[in-house]
Parts: sequence; C-alpha cells; structure tokens
Amino acid sequence: MAQEKEIVIRRLKTAKDLGKFMADYYYELDEASKSGKKKVAWCTSVGPAEILRGMGFLTYFPETHSAMLGTTRMAVDLIPKANAIGYSPDICSYLTADIGAFLAGVTPLSRAFPGIQSVPKPDVLVYNTNQCRDVQDWFAWYAKHYNVPLVGIETYRNVPEVTPAHITSIAGQMENIVEPLEKVAGRKLDMGELKNAVALSRECSNLWEKCLAAAAAKPSPLTFFDGTTLMGPAVVGRGTQRANDAYNLLLEELNERMAQGSGAIENEQYRLYWDGMPVWGRLSMHSKLFAGLNANVIASTYCSSWIFNALDPKEPFESMAKAYTELFIVRSDEYKEEYIKDKLEFFKCDGIIYHDAKTCPNNTNCRYGMPQRLEKKTGIPSLIINGDLNDLRLLSDEQTKTNVEAFIEQLEERK
Ligand code: SF4
Repeated sequence: MAQEKEIVIRRLKTAKDLGKFMADYYYELDEASKSGKKKVAWCTSVGPAEILRGMGFLTYFPETHSAMLGTTRMAVDLIPKANAIGYSPDICSYLTADIGAFLAGVTPLSRAFPGIQSVPKPDVLVYNTNQCRDVQDWFAWYAKHYNVPLVGIETYRNVPEVTPAHITSIAGQMENIVEPLEKVAGRKLDMGELKNAVALSRECSNLWEKCLAAAAAKPSPLTFFDGTTLMGPAVVGRGTQRANDAYNLLLEELNERMAQGSGAIENEQYRLYWDGMPVWGRLSMHSKLFAGLNANVIASTYCSSWIFNALDPKEPFESMAKAYTELFIVRSDEYKEEYIKDKLEFFKCDGIIYHDAKTCPNNTNCRYGMPQRLEKKTGIPSLIINGDLNDLRLLSDEQTKTNVEAFIEQLEERK
C-alpha cells in the first residue's frame, strides 16, 4: 500500500503572540461594552479608523467577526437566517453570516474568548464604501436595530488614477463625519491624537508590508494562509502601538527564518499568487492541499489590502483620503493588472490562483478577462477556483482538489 506523504508546514512561533493580541483586543471591547466606560464605534475594515482613535473610540470591525464565522464554519447554518429576513443568498456572505449570527444570538467570540457572550454594542457605526456597497446596508441594519447613528464615506470606484479631485472630495467627507462623531463621543477630535494615530497606522502599514515582502525569499518563510490570520492587528489594531509591537516580533521571526533559509513548507517547488478572498472555512485544507503538491501560495492581493503607504501625520485628512482611495479594490482593471504583474515579478511566482467568490464580486477579479490578459502579458498561467469566502455550500472540495492537482502538473511540465 502506498504510504501517505507527510505534509510539513512550519507554523510561526509569533502566531501565538498575535493570537494574544486579538484576545486582548476583544476583551477590551467586551469590557467597554459592558461597563459603558468607553465608547465603541463599529468600523468597516478599510474605514477611517484613525479618526475614531483621535476621539477615543474603541473600534470593532464586523468583517473580522464574519471571518471568524467562516473559519469556525458556523456561517453555513447562519446565512439562511439572514436570507429568511430578505437578504439574498447571492449577496455578501460576510453580511448574511453576521446578521444571521446576530439573529440566532450566537458568536464565535464566546468559544474563542471565555466570558464574552456577545459582540460589543455599538455607540455609532462608521463605513466607507471603498470596498463595496454591502457594508453600508450591513451597518444600516445594525444602526436601526440599536438605534444609534450611522455615518459614512461614499467613495469612487473603478479609479484608474487617484487625482487631487478625488482626494479633496473624500477628505471633505471625512471632515464632515467629525461633528456627528464628536456628538456621540461627547468630546472634540484631538488633532494631536489623530496625527498620532495616523503616524502609528503608517508604521503598522510599513511593518506589515515588510512582513509580507519576506515571502519574496526563496524558500518563502510565509504562506498566504498564515497571512490571513497574521493580518489581524493590521485590520483591527492599526493606529495603536500594540499592533506595531506585534509586527516587530513577527518581522524578527521572519528575518530569522530567512537567514536560516527555512521555508514555511518543506519542499517549495512552485510559488503561487492568490487573488481574491480566502475560503475561510477551508484555510487548513487548502494550505495542506498546496503544501502536499510542493506548492506554496506565498502572496496575495487580499493580505496586502492593509498597506497604506500614503498615510502622513502632517496631512491627516488628505493622506487618509489618498490611502483609502489608492486601495486595490477601488481601482480600475488596468491598474489592477499592472499591480498584479509587479507582484508576480517581485515574488517570483510561477502561477496565479483566482478565487471566484460567488458572493463577493468586489474582491473577485477573474470575471472580465483579467486572467487571459495577464497571462498574455506575463506568460504566467492561472487557475480559477469557484467558491466563496463563507458559504461553503457554494464550493466543491473535490473539484478544487482535482483542478489544483491538474494545475500543478501543468506547472511541472513547464519547468
Ligand atoms: S468586499 Fe466582499 S466580502 Fe467584503 S464586505 Fe464587501 S462584499 Fe463582503
């Protein structure tokens, strides 16, 4: 009988420290929500978190909660509850899983962090449509439910080049949300605190960028699947010193691995780029599937979405407007193709995996000919995986496995 190949995936020691960071973050929010001593603002994952920090809000990010609903696979049973009140199964499964969880009165936070019974109650909700319109609807539902204010920024989409007109408009919208936020905070925005938050956010972005860039080493000390959880502090903690401390530790470990030539997987033969959302309920399965074929998914558009190089404490509003409009997801296909082309070169990739996420067209880039155009430009082949971020009913594991195996064989023939 043929022996099963042992799959070696080297976990990062600092993942534990980052886990502790997330635990502290949720316990602080829980305490604030229970005691009412600090105000809680819900914010979209690429929303203006720095403004909220400048007013002393603790910030909670529902998308991170939804990703937990995905990784715990609770989402599958909860999505129908949101469908039952009118949210289509075709819209964002972050939204439907999260609202479904709320309707069912459950949260994965309780399992992960004993003592936490529910998500923190918001005093205000703040969105930016730079990623999609779903977040606006999602937050509007909670604003109505909790009877708290909803403020937001409506952004440009499909942007080829970020112009001064874009920046003036978005910066103006950001300044306009200050007054309603001050009313909820019961205090004024402190420009010193805002600038400090922007400076810390920029540092966080620099550190996270360096961590992700470590994957350019051969072999890569990092996998995309590690990145999807390691990015937690960049999402929920940007603008705080604690997030930066966590990333300094991570960077140290990645540098050590690079110095030792120690890769995240045992025998890295193929280096792949991932475009689109992760399949949260299949992180471990996908990580083993690729590693078992000596393929390392080393870089992604998704994990890089929390790099904000434009942030500048000298011009907090303008630089936030630029940083949050420069994002990949906001940009035109021409820009996106150049971006991915540069990444393929930088990370020395052999192939691309596009995740066609059924309920997130916003983070899916393979529906309008991009794979074909990019292959023509770069000669690098690609594979499309049909699936979803949270709704596991929308994917076939068998199909994914067969397609990935065939793709790696194709790469082997090209070597
Ligand atoms: S970008 Fe996609 S996954 Fe994220 S909130 Fe919008 S629709 Fe949902």
